[in-house]
Amino acid sequence: MSGPFVGLPTDGHGCAFSPDLDTPACGAPAVVHILSEAPGWGPVALESCDAHSDVARTAGAVIAEHVYGPRCPDDCWTATT
Ligand SMILES: [Zn+2]
Ligand SMILES: [Zn+2]
Repeated sequence: MSGPFVGLPTDGHGCAFSPDLDTPACGAPAVVHILSEAPGWGPVALESCDAHSDVARTAGAVIAEHVYGPRCPDDCWTATT
């Protein structure tokens, strides 16, 4: 896997950013929800706080993103189909 590491995919609420596997995730309230295609990883949904949104966008090819809302993280990606 290459490129910036932004932490493990999470299914909780809060920024998923962490600088490495041994460091707890940022955990700040998520303000943006980014779906990106990470090389070697596949589609990953990232919850991110404002401070880490730029990092999250560089994790892979961004497929979609929206303001983190009450339907996140489970219900939001299919809401428009
Ligand atoms: Zn963060
Ligand atoms: Zn969402």
